[in-house]
Amino acid sequence: MTFQSINPTTGEPFATYDEWPTEEAHDVVCKAHRDYLAWRRTGFEHRASLMRNAAEILNKKAREYAQLMAEEMGKPLQDGIAEAEKCALACEFFADNAENFLTRHPVWTEARRTFVAFNPIGVVLAVMPWNFPFWQVFRFAAPSLMAGNAALLKHASNVQGCALAIEQIFRDAGFPENLLRTLMITSKQVEAVIGHRFVRAVTLTGSGAAGRAVASKAGAMLKKTVLELGGSDPYLVLEDADIDSAAAICARGRLLNSGQSCIAAKRFIVVEKARPAFEKRFVELMSQTKMGDPFEHGTEIGPLARHDLRDRLHRQVVASIGKGARLLLGGVVPNHPGAYYPRTVLTDVRKGMPAYGEELFGPVAAIIPTRNEAEAIAVANDSPFGLGGAVITRDLARGERIAEFEIESGMVFVNDNVRSDPRVPFGGIKESGYGRELSCYGIREFVNIKTVIVA
Ligand code: NDP
Repeated sequence: MTFQSINPTTGEPFATYDEWPTEEAHDVVCKAHRDYLAWRRTGFEHRASLMRNAAEILNKKAREYAQLMAEEMGKPLQDGIAEAEKCALACEFFADNAENFLTRHPVWTEARRTFVAFNPIGVVLAVMPWNFPFWQVFRFAAPSLMAGNAALLKHASNVQGCALAIEQIFRDAGFPENLLRTLMITSKQVEAVIGHRFVRAVTLTGSGAAGRAVASKAGAMLKKTVLELGGSDPYLVLEDADIDSAAAICARGRLLNSGQSCIAAKRFIVVEKARPAFEKRFVELMSQTKMGDPFEHGTEIGPLARHDLRDRLHRQVVASIGKGARLLLGGVVPNHPGAYYPRTVLTDVRKGMPAYGEELFGPVAAIIPTRNEAEAIAVANDSPFGLGGAVITRDLARGERIAEFEIESGMVFVNDNVRSDPRVPFGGIKESGYGRELSCYGIREFVNIKTVIVA
C-alpha cells in the first residue's frame, strides 16, 4: 500500500510513499524511547543550541519548504515561506525560554525543602493535519523536545513529503537520530501506536471525529491527550465599530490560509445598525483578493487542499442557501482544474443552516444579523465550538469586557484577527478541544509536574 500525493492545483498525482506495517512503527517507537532515555539527561543549553540550528535550517530553506507545501496542499508560496519562518521563531522562542518555564518552583511547607520539578514524560505521539503542515508540527515539537521528550509524527496522508522534510530538519540540526521520527502510517494504525507501552501521551490537531477516535483510545489506555480541533470563530461587529477597519479585519481573518484554518474568522455577527455598510465594504475586500496558482507571485488564495474538502464546503453553501441564506459573492465552483473555491459571502444566515452551526473550512463567510450586543453575544456562544473569537468596537473597555467575560472560547482578540503567538497559550474549549499549546502553559502539558519534599 502507498500514500498518493495529489497536487490540488492540477488534480494530478505526483508522488507516492510506501506505507509502513505496524511492526515497523513499533520498532521506531522503541528507538525513540531509547533516544529519549539519553536525551532526558541533557541540559537546556545543549537542547537550545540544537533547536537554534533547526531555526537556522528553517530560515535558510524556507522557500524549498514552501514549494513542498504548495505542491502537496496548495498553499501560496509567500504563505509557505512565512510559515517556515514562523516555525523558526517558535524554535528560537522555546530555545530561549524553556529552562525558565521548567525551572523548579520552590514552595513553602513545614518540611526542610519543598519544590515542584518538571520532568519529561517520554515519547509523545503527534497526529497532525495538512493545513499548516510545518507550523502545527513545530508548535508541538519545539516545546516538547526542549522539555526532554521524544516525538513521533503521524502526519496527514496528503503531506507525507512535508513530514519527511521535518524529520530531516531535526536530524540535520544535530538531534539524536530517532528523537523525532515520522511514522508512515495510516489513521487506522494510530490506535496500535497509542497502545504501545512506550508512548506516554498523544496530541492531535484536526477534526472532531479524529479527536474523538484518538481520545477514546488514549482514554482507554489512561494516556494524556491534548486536542486542538475545529472552530467556528465568531467576530462581533458592534454598532460603534469603524466599518473600514472591521471589514479589513474580518476579510483578513476569513481568508487566512485560503480559509482553511481552525482560527479563521467564520461567523460574522453584525449588529443591524452596522450591517449595510459592513456588508458592502466586506464584499468589496473579499472580492479584491487574488485567487490563483500558488506558485505564481502575488497569489493570495490557492486551491483548497483536496477536492473532497472543496466539494463538502460547496455542499454546505448550497444547503445554507436552500434554507434561506442570501448569496452576496461567489458560491459557484470554477469550471477549471484544481480544488478551487471562490471567495464567498452569505448573509441572513440563521440557526439551522450549516453555515450557522458547522465549521466552514474554506473562504466562505457567514454573516449573521443581530439586533444588539446581548443578542450578538448569545449567537457567538450558540456554537458547539469555542476556539477563538473577536470583538470589533471603538470602545476598548467594552471590547475588553466582552472578550474577558462573555465569549466562550480559548482566545479573544479586540479589534484584530485571531492568530497564534508562541508567547501566549493557544487552544479551545467545548468541541474545539482541551489543553493548551505554546507559551509556558503548552510546554507544561507533556511533563510530569512532580512534587519533591525533603523532610
Ligand atoms: P482529519 O481530522 O481527518 O485529519 C487530521 C489528522 O488526523 C490526519 O493526520 C488524519 O490522518 C488523522 N486522523 C483522521 N482520522 C483519524 C482516526 N480515526 N484515528 C487517528 N487519526 C486520524 O481532517 P481532514 O483532513 O479529513 O479534514 C476534515 C475537516 O477537519 C476539515 O474540513 C476541517 O473542518 C477539520 N480540520 C481541522 C483542522 C484544524 O486545524 N483544527 C485541520 C484539518 C482539518 P489521515 O490524513 O491519514 O486521515
